[in-house]
Amino acid sequence: MNRQLVLRQRPIGAVDESTTELVTRPKPVCGPGQALIKVAMLSIDPTIRTWMNDAPGYLPPIELGAPIRSSGAGVVVASESPRYQVGDVVVGRTDWQEWALADDSNRFSVVPRGLGLDLATVMNVLGVTGLTAYFGLLEVGRFQSGDVVVVSGAAGATGSVVGQIARARGAAKVIGVAGGPHKCAEVVERYGFDDCLDYREAGLAGRLRAACPNGVDLYFDNVGGAVLDAALASIAMHGRVVLCGAISQYNEVGHPRGVANTSMLIMRRASMTGFIVLDFAERFADAQAVLATMARDGTLTHREHLVYGLERAPEALNLLFTGGNNGKTLVVVDESVTLA
Ligand code: NAP
Repeated sequence: MNRQLVLRQRPIGAVDESTTELVTRPKPVCGPGQALIKVAMLSIDPTIRTWMNDAPGYLPPIELGAPIRSSGAGVVVASESPRYQVGDVVVGRTDWQEWALADDSNRFSVVPRGLGLDLATVMNVLGVTGLTAYFGLLEVGRFQSGDVVVVSGAAGATGSVVGQIARARGAAKVIGVAGGPHKCAEVVERYGFDDCLDYREAGLAGRLRAACPNGVDLYFDNVGGAVLDAALASIAMHGRVVLCGAISQYNEVGHPRGVANTSMLIMRRASMTGFIVLDFAERFADAQAVLATMARDGTLTHREHLVYGLERAPEALNLLFTGGNNGKTLVVVDESVTLA
């Protein structure tokens, strides 16, 4: 049988016990051109919350009664496709369930053997968040050596990688923004940022101005809302704002907070660009090679926050919104699956 978490009710605000339901359905059967995947790990991403809304997005809303859409990793246990061999560890769209089918409409990538990284690291650094950090900073943000860079969500999966790539590529200064003194200390001590400001304390705009007296050349926004406004107030001449995520707004269904300081884009001839990492899919392999090298040689420090048990996926998703996660949030569905 196949245990799945399906969308039972669209949440208003945070996900709660009425949002999803654990159901048991027949295990899928592998047919011609398909592979059967035993799901090992789920990538818990803030965007899952946006897919639960009946609202326009870059993908259609999850339908009521359908399994929660999610990327993940697993192992091939049966294959009638030349793309997959039994025993391959694969990543792709697993959804929140124990068994998934790969076919032409849902292709998985086979994780190469001998990478020298464990599965959780692959899901973090080589997964959606690592790739988002890489392309968001270097391509969308047009990062240049000597830039003063500010990153929100700095202790999180995406933000921690953004700051470390900027540091490795010669940023003049890398300032993080995160919630609480412990996370701010971690951003400096573990991830090597120059400083980290606690957005939960008053006066963020003033503290950012003091930290970046000549302005912010590149602001990488993971959170939106008040933190985005504070960063806009310090944007440098010809500065670039990368709109990666707006997690502060995802639970605010129907009444998102407006951004007040857009006039700073005019004064400073600055630009603000949104992106979705899937836009860079054809170049993922190149970026993964760079990120894997950085992870292996220690240039890139990473941390995974593991939550055990499929049924705990909704709880894991909520951690992203309370800041209860430390690093990339992953749900372990089957811990026996490892990368040899
Ligand atoms: P993450 O940073 O590991 O976890 C989310 C963090 O957001 C939390 O730890 C919390 O950190 C912070 N947060 C939550 N509510 C907040 C609020 N109201 N104000 C400020 N910070 C808040 O998650 P992630 O997976 O790396 O995602 C980070 C962002 O990147 C999300 O917005 C996500 O949607 C976006 N993203 C975009 C793309 C794309 O293609 N554009 C791809 C992947 C991710 P604190 O404890 O510091 O508050």
